[in-house]
Amino acid sequence: MTEPILTAAGLDRSFGGIHAVNDVSLEIPQGALHAIIGPNGSGKTTLFNLITGHTRPSAGRVRFAGEDITGMPYSKVARKGLAKSYQITTVFPLLTVFENVRIAAQAAAHSYVFWRPADGIRAVVAHTEEVLERIGLAGERDVIASNLSHGDQRRLDLGIALATSPRLLLLDEPTAGMSPSETAATVELVKELNRDVTILMIEHKMDVILSIADRITVLHQGEKLFEGAPEDVKSHPRVQEVYLTG
Ligand code: ADP
Repeated sequence: MTEPILTAAGLDRSFGGIHAVNDVSLEIPQGALHAIIGPNGSGKTTLFNLITGHTRPSAGRVRFAGEDITGMPYSKVARKGLAKSYQITTVFPLLTVFENVRIAAQAAAHSYVFWRPADGIRAVVAHTEEVLERIGLAGERDVIASNLSHGDQRRLDLGIALATSPRLLLLDEPTAGMSPSETAATVELVKELNRDVTILMIEHKMDVILSIADRITVLHQGEKLFEGAPEDVKSHPRVQEVYLTG
């Protein structure tokens, strides 16, 4: 059996008196589309930050692609192939859609050696165009990012993450603030991306989660309450209770 792309073992983190993440372990196999759900304050964001290196765990280890990355800064983790798309924080609002993706593609391409600089530029442009096609923004390539709709800005943020050719993509509520049609389009896009990228996502909307994830971890008050297939999560009495009572 191949090693999981990501393993988190016994992750723990407190803030003052709040135990935000309490002894949480996760194993994400290559190719999975794994979701983390839980009410507000259950530790989802902190868990993501512990994985990406934005927050240091007080205990526990994180392994990514066969390497221990515990406590490594995100800049280094990203170069190893772990990308995140959180809200719209990575979009440069005054640059065009094309430039936003090209900058990310170019930054990632520094790890390759091209014998002729023109080959490097052509490869970056070709990769940028391919990413724009994939995220459905090829027709908006010359639009200034801040003029895009909210849904398209989120797609662009995803494109920026994809431009780095990640092995694992972390998505934080990819459909937050979206209309029903934007949500449906994003669900399709995430499914399509999962054909060649492993995805770990936080999502609040139960219907989205149940239609998309192959496995779900439910957090409650910093602890893992349950983990299983969507149909088992749906019928689990404690999960229903926690969701209904917030
Ligand atoms: P979720 O993403 O599920 O809403 P969070 O991981 O954001 O949950 O938060 C879990 C708990 O940790 C909450 O009680 C929150 O207030 C607390 N927390 C998170 N980050 C910090 C921080 N930087 N400082 C203090 N408390 C924090």
